[in-house]
Amino acid sequence: MAVSDLLATSGSRGVIARGLGRSYGDAAQNAGGTVLDMTALDGLAIDPTSGTAVVGAGTSLDSVMRACVPLGWWVPVTPGTRQVTVGGAIGGDIHGKNHHVDGSFAAHVTWLSLALPDGSVRRLAPGDDLFHATTGGMGLTGVILEAELTLTPISTALVNVDTDRHNDLDSLMAAMVEGDDRFRYSVAWVDAGSRGTLGRGVLTRGDHAASTDVPVRQRGLEFAPRERVGVPALVPRSLLSSASITAFNEAWFRRAPERRRGELEHLGTFFHPLDGVRDWNLLYGPRGFVQYQFVVPNSAAYVVQTALERLRAIGATSFLSVLKRFGAQGPGHLSFPMPGWTLALDLPAAVDGLAPLLDSLDALVASEGGRVYLAKDSRMTPAMMEAMYPRLEEFRALRASIDPHTHLNSDLARRLHL
Ligand SMILES: Cc1cc2nc3c(=O)[nH]c(=O)nc-3n(C[C@H](O)[C@H](O)[C@H](O)COP(=O)(O)OP(=O)(O)OC[C@H]3O[C@@H](n4cnc5c(N)ncnc54)[C@H](O)[C@@H]3O)c2cc1C
Repeated sequence: MAVSDLLATSGSRGVIARGLGRSYGDAAQNAGGTVLDMTALDGLAIDPTSGTAVVGAGTSLDSVMRACVPLGWWVPVTPGTRQVTVGGAIGGDIHGKNHHVDGSFAAHVTWLSLALPDGSVRRLAPGDDLFHATTGGMGLTGVILEAELTLTPISTALVNVDTDRHNDLDSLMAAMVEGDDRFRYSVAWVDAGSRGTLGRGVLTRGDHAASTDVPVRQRGLEFAPRERVGVPALVPRSLLSSASITAFNEAWFRRAPERRRGELEHLGTFFHPLDGVRDWNLLYGPRGFVQYQFVVPNSAAYVVQTALERLRAIGATSFLSVLKRFGAQGPGHLSFPMPGWTLALDLPAAVDGLAPLLDSLDALVASEGGRVYLAKDSRMTPAMMEAMYPRLEEFRALRASIDPHTHLNSDLARRLHL
């Protein structure tokens, strides 16, 4: 059955597209309704001269990278995993370590084709309101079938990386601000578990290595990411208590070099370290974890420290805490990135008091003009959604005009009254 037929015949709970299901919450779920697995809609054609790629929406970024790296091109925005689809990357308008320089995924989409609830298929480009409602629109404006991407030229499959260890959050954040203009890629791992100074961290920054940076034998354009290691081989699951997460954070911090310059790292190692660990999501055991990611404007940088302090006070130690800089806001109605600081945390779900604490952080983030990332959310309230996303009404009006009978729906859309 064609996608447009499915949309037209959806039942009362509607239809939602799903890519590889890497959003952490309920964005690609639709209890009682229809979920369209888009992964069969894969395929890509790359023009090696212009660096443009026409890609089926169900194609994974992993497949795009395997095809484009040997031709001397790279996906312009990549999240911390390659296992997401192009449709999911547009639906969430995802960001990478280079938002402060290159913007979000949608900034590199020249057109997309969208199956609409009325049975039509439209080709949309930047400047069209529906394009901007779709990028970051969490699948609620239609089903993306295909898109054209502008790729980034590379001359090696390596990244030239500088690493710096910082003993406290102030020094880490100051270094990140100072380096905004000098590094295309920048990310900090923050130790959220240390007993002493909170927020020490390891800052890694870099850019694609030029041929002249690389010894001749490493100059190829091969994309061969590391084999996956299983979690049980790394960490006995019984040890994943708050104390052992603290110990892990300590070891991770100590393991990083204090200062290293010009290390050549493979693209896969630099961009997608978790993809090298199979079943990493089992790390928190049967009760699982909650991912929480917010952004606040530069004027509210203190919220990063406040969040870490409040979480430590209740023993919610994040295994993986990632701090990044965002640049200018894009035109997507519900796009997450805005200029400032974004902190992403993996929190063990079983900690007492976690739910009210995250509610209080939502309120703090909203009061400072920030927002929580929909692709990571599973728990926010409609009131917070309204407070955080100033273009929500515009999005709702457009959604109602193209889908008056709500053929497109998801658990996220119902929970947050999108
Ligand atoms: C380890 C890890 C690291 C991550 N790191 C980052 C990061 O650094 N930056 C970042 O921004 N995100 C990050 N993410 C989140 C991830 O990039 C997004 O959730 C992305 O949307 C997932 O893509 P997917 O193909 O799995 O889509 P899904 O999770 O299946 O769907 C996500 C949304 O896109 C919609 N969608 C999917 N396909 C289509 C389509 N064809 N048409 C219309 N709508 C569609 C869905 O309806 C849903 O609303 C990370 C996730 C993981 C697991």
